[in-house]
Amino acid sequence: MAVDAVTAPFTTHEVTNQVPPLQDLDLFSTNVPLVEALEREGAGWARERCAEVGRAWGGEPLTTWAFQANEYPPKLRTHDRFGHRIDEVEYHPAYHQLMRLSSEQGLHALPWTSDRDGAHVARAAMYLTSGQAEAGHGCPITMTFAAVPALRHQPDLYEEWVPKLTAHAYDPELRAGKDSAKCGMAMTEKQGGSDVRANTTRAVPDGDGYRLTGHKWFCSAPMCDVFLVLAQTDEGLGCFLVPRVLPDGTRNTFRLQRLKDKLGNRSNASSEVEFDQTYGQLVGELGRGVPTIIEMVAHTRLDCVLGSAAGMRWAVANATWHAAHRAAFGKTLVDQPLMQNVLADLAVESEAATALAMRLARAYDEEDTALRRLATAVGKYWVCKRYPGLAFEAMECLGGNGYVEDSGMPRLYREAPVNSIWEGSGNVNALDVLRALAKQPATLEAYFAEVELAAGADARLDAFVAGLRDEFADLEAVEMRARRIVEKLALALQGSLLVRHAPPAVADAFCASRLAGDGGLNYGTLPAGVDARAIVERHTPAL
Ligand SMILES: Cc1cc2nc3c(=O)[nH]c(=O)nc-3n(C[C@H](O)[C@H](O)[C@H](O)COP(=O)(O)OP(=O)(O)OC[C@H]3O[C@@H](n4cnc5c(N)ncnc54)[C@H](O)[C@@H]3O)c2cc1C
Repeated sequence: MAVDAVTAPFTTHEVTNQVPPLQDLDLFSTNVPLVEALEREGAGWARERCAEVGRAWGGEPLTTWAFQANEYPPKLRTHDRFGHRIDEVEYHPAYHQLMRLSSEQGLHALPWTSDRDGAHVARAAMYLTSGQAEAGHGCPITMTFAAVPALRHQPDLYEEWVPKLTAHAYDPELRAGKDSAKCGMAMTEKQGGSDVRANTTRAVPDGDGYRLTGHKWFCSAPMCDVFLVLAQTDEGLGCFLVPRVLPDGTRNTFRLQRLKDKLGNRSNASSEVEFDQTYGQLVGELGRGVPTIIEMVAHTRLDCVLGSAAGMRWAVANATWHAAHRAAFGKTLVDQPLMQNVLADLAVESEAATALAMRLARAYDEEDTALRRLATAVGKYWVCKRYPGLAFEAMECLGGNGYVEDSGMPRLYREAPVNSIWEGSGNVNALDVLRALAKQPATLEAYFAEVELAAGADARLDAFVAGLRDEFADLEAVEMRARRIVEKLALALQGSLLVRHAPPAVADAFCASRLAGDGGLNYGTLPAGVDARAIVERHTPAL
């Protein structure tokens, strides 16, 4: 056989009607609703910085690193070759690159290192941008960011650790005397997860600290340098800072039993850990462990909202991009009226999520504790719950290609549920809304004050808000109704934000479908008459 016949490419056809890859784009600047929200919520000064983040996370080598970090998940190494316990997790180098870049960009620290107004909003926009490219490594980035407010309860530990936690460096080695550090959290136990008061890990005083014995059922990013851990004492639950390496350089007891084999979030290790006379230092007051760690949880919940909004944006960007470049039945998909409806509906959901997330971030900047308290729980419940359904529908917009790993859509889909499950699952957040309303009624007034900034602008929103007020007139069976109440609170805030700030086409579609009941249960059921084309154009990345 002639050599040419063997080596020549085997070609039966030309490849046509396939979509160009959505790559090498600025994930921030091409996200128009986010760019607008950054200005509106008070961090216009960070625009170029966000664009830098957008360019870095939207191009190579980031795209490859994001794939690799998930394709080659972390491995547990309990012992070294000689049989000594080491309790380490080995990550693919790509994971370390992701951690390094997020650290250098200050995604874990900006509000604590900048004295500019709007630093939370700026960080939120950055997180909402990088989170589109890779979500798993965001777990330790978020926990490190969120630990800082909790450490304020213990000034000596704050002074010792916060400079390391906010350093723009990443050093994955476990050793004493490092200039930078990452922080995790360990609350959840087998016998009672959401119900942390059922924890059985015990802490007993010993010298200048405590010795902790017990277990944690979920402890993510176990290669962090330090953890905030809940444990029981004679005075009730306490919050303890547990370092992995002691000041003399020896290892603290932190036995990693196994890593969880998770649905998604695969670049991030989540472990089961045993404490056995493990050294810890008290953070805050004994018996006040929950209020202390709740400071951390409020900030991780903020990031659950931001992370979900990020995933939703990336899902919509891929769906609109695909539909703009693929034809079927003689027309580009985006020109098929029913596909326009699906894309516009998804885009409205994504824009509503971004608007809520960024307004919430401003409440953190302004230390608006009343609004922040309620809107965090409402946002955590609602935005995180909306993400999985949206990820599926966006995947379907890509047809069979969307179901294939190369498209990135399966990773988004697997990632989507976790933000609702961890940091307080759906019901727990819905009940937290009721708790906030019962204990701090001022939170509801602050919430309505924000919603009613749009009063009179859209009759559908006004009617919806009046109906929402009625929900609180009768508190009969309120726990049973909690999810419905929280949904309505979320929709009222999103409606108010879109009516005030989004283009009329987006606000109109939201009010018609989400507030006035003129939308169906699946995406793609916006009523005829909405300007779907304008909505889709706004949400299609322009390269
Ligand atoms: C990938 C991953 C990583 C994690 N990493 C960490 C970590 O690093 N540190 C950490 O501490 N935890 C971590 N967690 C644990 C997580 O925070 C918990 O799984 C979560 O808070 C739920 O607790 P649980 O699993 O014990 O479920 P449960 O508390 O048993 O809840 C089960 C279900 O019951 C519902 N429920 C609970 N109470 C009520 C009620 N009163 N009324 C109605 N419904 C109720 C919940 O909403 C939930 O749907 C992680 C979880 C996952 C999935």
